[in-house]
Amino acid sequence: MTDRIARLRITRIDSAIAMARAHGSGTIAAHVARVIVRIDTDHGLTGLGEAAPWAPFGNTADTTAAALDGPIRQVLIAADPARISAIAGGMAHALAGHPEARAAVEMALWDIAGKRAGLPVHALLGGLVRETIRLSFSIADPDFNADLDRAMAFANDGVRTFKVKTGFASAATDLERLRHLREVVPEAEIRADFNQGLAPHEAMRVCRALDELGLGFIEQPVPRGHEATLAALAAALATPVMADESVYNANEMLACARGAWADCVSVKLMKAGGLLAAREADAVAAAAGMPTYGGTLWEGGIALAAAAQVIAASPNMSLGCEFYMPRFVLARDVTAEPFPVIHGAVHVPMAPGLGVALDEAALAADTVAERG
Ligand SMILES: [Mg+2]
Repeated sequence: MTDRIARLRITRIDSAIAMARAHGSGTIAAHVARVIVRIDTDHGLTGLGEAAPWAPFGNTADTTAAALDGPIRQVLIAADPARISAIAGGMAHALAGHPEARAAVEMALWDIAGKRAGLPVHALLGGLVRETIRLSFSIADPDFNADLDRAMAFANDGVRTFKVKTGFASAATDLERLRHLREVVPEAEIRADFNQGLAPHEAMRVCRALDELGLGFIEQPVPRGHEATLAALAAALATPVMADESVYNANEMLACARGAWADCVSVKLMKAGGLLAAREADAVAAAAGMPTYGGTLWEGGIALAAAAQVIAASPNMSLGCEFYMPRFVLARDVTAEPFPVIHGAVHVPMAPGLGVALDEAALAADTVAERG
């Protein structure tokens, strides 16, 4: 007998954080607001999902919870949870935008599919091409010296990649910080992420000054909408240019490839709207010769387990990931086990489904509101 979705539980949570994060926009200082999704089936399976919206990318935890409780709930109830592509299409048809809400549901469906099959999700996506994913830690503490100390400690623990949030201090300060970090962690690859922070007319001058530092990449120097400038930078600089806010999904990846906007792209489940959509975007990038990177908004261990499952099975997602949040930024997550970061690498979960279990007490402690 076909299994059916019996219940959708939507839990809005606020999680305290252990270190402040400043990104030039949408600074996070006290807590992170997320939405945890549980999908229960008639056959007694439960899938876990998580939405981690960040307002500069279009949504908040409250708008996401409302989207889940409204149009998305109507698509799900009584549907066959195994028909993941059909449900993803149904959600996109029922509700424009809201990729975070759709991603949370889709990862719960994959969790159910894996648990039913007794296989980790990566086995359902083609199998492993990597068992570990290089971790990048972001230098984004408003207290730069605190981050330098942290970078040294991380480097001693095996972290070999750091990403500095640039573009919200002066260009001179950014240069000084990048050089300082290079001295502190001489073995590491250093990257810069402007989070759209440069005005198009000044971007070429500022980025040319960074070009001699040998950075791994320069991420999204100019705002979304200024892709002609992004393309000019990608053509002019020796340093690879990464698109993030300019590319959410496969359609925009195709435009990026056609317009040569960038050399590489940050792929996020929360931008694409799910595992399938992230893989479609990555497939377009692969065809265009652009490797991709596992970027984040404010995900905890459930959403990042889903993202790790995708990267584990996707050869072109080769630039590592920034999945440090649940282990190092959240004071406590809602998963039973700590997120598997070991010596500078994320270890892909191997248990059936997403490979994560919920800590019910932690979820209850962080709950702000529950629906369904
Ligand atoms: Mg970014």
